[in-house]
Amino acid sequence: MKVLVPVKRVVDYNVKIRVKSDKTGVDLANVKMSMNPFDEISVEEAVRLKEAGVATEVIAVSVGPQQAQETIRTALAMGADRGILVKTDAEVEPLGVAKILKELVGAESPDLVIAGKQAIDDDSNQTGQMLAALLGWSQATFASELEIADGKAKVTREIDGGLQTIEVSMPAVVTADLRLNEPRYASLPNIMKAKKKPIDEKTVEELGVDIAPRLTVLEVTEPAAREAGVKVETVAELVDKLKNEAGVIG
Ligand code: AMP
Repeated sequence: MKVLVPVKRVVDYNVKIRVKSDKTGVDLANVKMSMNPFDEISVEEAVRLKEAGVATEVIAVSVGPQQAQETIRTALAMGADRGILVKTDAEVEPLGVAKILKELVGAESPDLVIAGKQAIDDDSNQTGQMLAALLGWSQATFASELEIADGKAKVTREIDGGLQTIEVSMPAVVTADLRLNEPRYASLPNIMKAKKKPIDEKTVEELGVDIAPRLTVLEVTEPAAREAGVKVETVAELVDKLKNEAGVIG
């Protein structure tokens, strides 16, 4: 069983985001970039499937600039077997990524795609769902547990107020939620080994996919700054302020 894992290069989750002064987007100059955290979880899950003898090959795929190769190398150091970089300097929306992934699925014939539930830069939460729809495959989103047996995937999903367990036929698209696993750190020997693993490069034109944007970003703004708080001397003063200033108690 082949597993395809899309990995996106995004602003590192520890970075304090700065909005560009013209409000067209986020400033990416000299900012640390890393693999999308949910994609680390997908890679970990795919590698565990391989270690358990369920998967035979794990292919990490990234759509992005040349530097996205580093993101693929991270996946290879975690245990993926090979990579595919679809090189583009354009900002590709989830529909474009899903169309590209569909082409790669056509070429590679994996039985399973494990994507992240969302990318922490655009917070779209769309790519996995769109890919499943384009392929006509089963989908199981927000997975916190995954079990493959008898050509089926049993997936526990995190839903509002609880967990739902579903069984879907393969091939399938699964999207990883936070509690699916704890991704490993790549060891130094594995980082060295990853340098020798192959990464195939493709272009969007080669794949014949139209990635022209369908959305127009009107404005990106910082969240409103929190106002400074006040210190109160006594509980009575607090109650008075809550009642007469904030109006939150009667
Ligand atoms: P999104 O729909 O943008 O929130 O992204 C959901 C998931 O789709 C991510 O966690 C990745 O697994 C995958 N994905 C989105 N964009 C890319 C990209 N440019 N390259 C590779 N994978 C991507």
